[in-house]
Amino acid sequence: MHTSSRILIGPVVVGAALLAAGLSAALGTGASAGGSGAPVLTTASAPPQPPAATAPRTVLLDPGHAGRTDATGTLVPDGRGGEKACNTTGTETNAGYAEHAFTFDVAQRVAARLRADGVVVVLTRADDSGTGPCVDERGRAGEAAGADAVVSIHGDGAPADGHGFHVAFSDPPLNPAQEGPAHALAVAVRDAMRGGGFVDSTYLGHDGLSPRNDLAGLNLATRPSVLVECANMRNAADAAVMSTPEGRESYAAAITTGIQAFLARA
Ligand code: ZN
Repeated sequence: MHTSSRILIGPVVVGAALLAAGLSAALGTGASAGGSGAPVLTTASAPPQPPAATAPRTVLLDPGHAGRTDATGTLVPDGRGGEKACNTTGTETNAGYAEHAFTFDVAQRVAARLRADGVVVVLTRADDSGTGPCVDERGRAGEAAGADAVVSIHGDGAPADGHGFHVAFSDPPLNPAQEGPAHALAVAVRDAMRGGGFVDSTYLGHDGLSPRNDLAGLNLATRPSVLVECANMRNAADAAVMSTPEGRESYAAAITTGIQAFLARA
């Protein structure tokens, strides 16, 4: 926007000088007029650019679930007037590879990729052994971190004949961050997952996207937030990819690309 303003205003100034003073005079007057007008325009448009180019972006990554299920039965607000369990260990593949381990590993890989790109990364849990924070705390963590984007990473536990990924976002939206930005982040991550060779879910959502009103982490978010169900852990083909380091790296690469695309446009 700043750049196009300068391009548009420049010819107007020169054109006015041409009309007023004639061609040969305008060459001098135009420079003079540009000299007197430019500082105002430059002062108005240039200062915001250096901070925007150098300020690090912050991303909150939420490796879904936790190494142990909270055994106290604690219920927490779901962000729409209801309650949810604090947290669980999630689902697992038929061979016993746990969702919490998958999400933690993929999150570490995404974090490494983003940090290599200069992004400040904050994670909702530092290890894969404890009960981890409850889902409501995770939903509020993006605000606490000052995050430009929040991505919660999961694997699904759906019927075995379904496969593919989907990206969930809060709907109906509860605040401005959930209205446009969260959807834009969901589309960016969806597109990157497709670009990484992953297919839209065959069993949930539409076009790889899933508007949801029942996910506490998304309901409580005041920063652009999405939840990626990378694949169905109960599907044999999906589980085979999720269970290898190479497969997890490919999910991480796609998620990172989606986050970067969102940050580039935000
Ligand atoms: Zn999950």
